[in-house]
Amino acid sequence: MDAKRNARLGTAGMVAAFGLLLWMEHRRSLRNPVESKKRRVARNLGVAGVSAVLIHFAERPVSVPLARLVERRRLGLLQHLPLPAWMETLLALLLLDYTLYLWHVLEHRVPALWRLHAVHHVDLDLDASTALRFHFGELAASIPWRAAQILVIGVTPRNLALYQRLLMLSVLFHHSNVRISTRTERWLSRFIMTPRLHGIHHSVEHSEVNSNWSSGLTIWDTLHHTLTPSATRDNVTIGLADYRDPKELTLPKVLEMPFARSTAKRVMQLPVDQNL
Ligand SMILES: [Zn+2]
Repeated sequence: MDAKRNARLGTAGMVAAFGLLLWMEHRRSLRNPVESKKRRVARNLGVAGVSAVLIHFAERPVSVPLARLVERRRLGLLQHLPLPAWMETLLALLLLDYTLYLWHVLEHRVPALWRLHAVHHVDLDLDASTALRFHFGELAASIPWRAAQILVIGVTPRNLALYQRLLMLSVLFHHSNVRISTRTERWLSRFIMTPRLHGIHHSVEHSEVNSNWSSGLTIWDTLHHTLTPSATRDNVTIGLADYRDPKELTLPKVLEMPFARSTAKRVMQLPVDQNL
């Protein structure tokens, strides 16, 4: 199968997963919405559309050639170890997931990155569309980190594509507003990030935001003692305490947010927990 056809199938799979989650959110919602769902989904897709242009013209032209270079020249940690292909893939996925955990922590702790990441956190509700709501500036800032991940770990194009698909599925799932039985969620959250668990990370409570940073496996939060269990927490107030008015969260305003002096001051007031 050629690469283009493979990419098209991958995109179709993601669109289907997004549609399925929206349908499940409609049938079995976890949290009561604050804003109109239609308006929020349209706004979040607007943020995602601008970011998709950035990914197409800036992120992929860096990450794909770098992964090809890693494979051709055998660069990076995993290319220097005598590993069977399945083990190399498994380690690549684990190391990419762990270094994304570290990047997420940095996004909350480095003021310039937090200003960009806050656009994701000011959403007053949390659902599958929030998973697509990352400011183009945040994605641009992550390009050097992604390049370092590929080069240092030694990630080949195939492993990179597999990781990106699994990550997208995981991010769509744990941002979703789908109600799963507490028993199933408690079991799942031992291994992967789940909707209630990630809801805690989007809470207006400062102490809760500084936890549950993992994007894939929960083991990283467990190892760093940053996991707040939440299998029975349904009623989390989502968003940032200083941004409760939907009129302040229109599409032009959230796109402008990281660059606006007045709003920047307000999002900077989030204290961080230093016990990582
Ligand atoms: Zn975050």
